[in-house]
Amino acid sequence: MTGSIEGLERFDSPGKGRGLRVTRPFKVGELLFSSPAYSYVLSVKERGYYCEFCFTGKKGLAKCGKCKKAFYCNVKCQKGDWAMHKLECSAMTAFGENWCPSDISRLVARILAKKKMQKEKCVSEKILLIGDMQSHVEDEDNEKREMCEADIAGLYRFYSKHLEMPDHKDLLTLFSQVACNGFTIEDDELSHLGTAVYPDVALINHSCLPTVIVTYKGTSAEIRAVQDMKPGDEVLISYIDLLYPTEDRNNRLRECYYFTCNCQECKSQSKDKAKLKVRKRSDPIEPDVISNMVRYARKTVKEFRTFKNTKTPSELLEMCEQSLEEMGAVFDDSNVYMLHMMYQAMGICLYMQDVEGAVRYGEKIIKPYSQLYPPHCLNVSSLYLKLGRSYLLLERPSVGISALKKALAIMEVAHGKDHFYLTELRKEIAQK
Ligand SMILES: [Zn+2]
Ligand SMILES: [Zn+2]
Ligand SMILES: [Zn+2]
Repeated sequence: MTGSIEGLERFDSPGKGRGLRVTRPFKVGELLFSSPAYSYVLSVKERGYYCEFCFTGKKGLAKCGKCKKAFYCNVKCQKGDWAMHKLECSAMTAFGENWCPSDISRLVARILAKKKMQKEKCVSEKILLIGDMQSHVEDEDNEKREMCEADIAGLYRFYSKHLEMPDHKDLLTLFSQVACNGFTIEDDELSHLGTAVYPDVALINHSCLPTVIVTYKGTSAEIRAVQDMKPGDEVLISYIDLLYPTEDRNNRLRECYYFTCNCQECKSQSKDKAKLKVRKRSDPIEPDVISNMVRYARKTVKEFRTFKNTKTPSELLEMCEQSLEEMGAVFDDSNVYMLHMMYQAMGICLYMQDVEGAVRYGEKIIKPYSQLYPPHCLNVSSLYLKLGRSYLLLERPSVGISALKKALAIMEVAHGKDHFYLTELRKEIAQK
C-alpha cells in the first residue's frame, strides 16, 4: 500500500491472490480509508459543469483561455491541472471537431505523463504500485484486443506530440491494467463524472456480499464499512451491479475481470428465486417458456446497451415498453429483467423531462430494489434521490421528502454524515 494505513493490512487471500483485511473492528458507516487518485480525468460530457482539477460542480466556472474547453474554479485549480491539461489543450484546438480520444486513452495519457514526471523527481513508490496492478492481456478475446488497439491508435493520434510512447507490449499491459482497475467516479445519482485509478483501492477483492463501499469526495475515493467488521475480516467491494442473479453476475465478472465469484451468495444463490420471480397464474407457466423468456431478456438487455448510442430517446423508450410487455406475460413486475428495463425507461423519461413518466417507473422499481440489493446500496439511494426530486418537481412535497429522507439514511452510511452531498440534501429537505 501507499504507506501503511492504520487498521488495515495486505494479505494473501485464499484463492484470490493478494487482498486487504482489517486489523481492528470497524462499525457500519465507519471510514476505513480515503485514497487520492493516482490519475483521473473528467468526462468530456461534464465539461463546463465540473472543475477539471478538483471535480467541484458549480455554476460560473472559468474557462481555459487557450482552448476554451476546460473549466476551473479559479486560477489555483487551473495551475494545478496544467501538467495534465497541457496534454490536450493545444491538440483540442488543432483537431477541432475531430478530437475524440476514448476516456481510457485520455486516462492512460495522463498516467504516462505522471510516470514521466515522477521519474524526473525520482519518486519510485507509486510507479511500482501501478506496475503492481493486475493485467489480463493474455485473457483478452479478439473483440477486446481490437478495442484496445483502437485505444492505442487514439493515444498515438492525439497525444504523441506530448508523450514518449512505451513499446507496444507495455502499452497493451497498461491498457489492460486500466481496464481492470479503473474506477468510475459517480455523483450522488450515479451519473458518471470521470474515470480514475486508485492503486490502493485496486487491492480490494470482489464479493457479492461486500463489506465496504466506495464513494467519492472530489477526485478522492472513500472506503466505508457497510457491515460491522471484526479484526481479520477481508475488505471486499462489489465490482459489478448486484441486482442480477448469480449466473448473470458471474458471466459479467468473467467477461470483465476474468474470475468466477465464490462468495456466500454465489454458493447459496439465496436471492435468485426472488430475482427471477415469475407471474402468478392459475395455470402454472412451463419451465421452457420461462427459460426462453430469460434468454429473450438477456438478449434485450445487451441489445439495448448497444442501441443506447445510436437510437433516439423515443425509439429507446418504445424498445423498453415493448420488451416490458413481452416479458410481463411471464415475469412478475419485481423480476430483475423487468426492473432493468423499467430503470432504463425511467432514465429516458428524466432525460426527456417527462417527470410523471419517470415517477411511474420509479414507483414500481423502488420497493423490489430495496429488497433485492444488499443494505446501504448506492443503487437504492440514488433511486430514492431521483424519485424524491421528481416528486418535488411535481409539487408533491410530502412523498418527495419521505423519499429524500430514505436516500439520506443510506448516504449517511455510504458517504459519511459530513459529505457535502448530505449537507445539500438536508438543505433540500429543509426548504420544503
Ligand atoms: Zn476546482
Ligand atoms: Zn486549454
Ligand atoms: Zn459472489
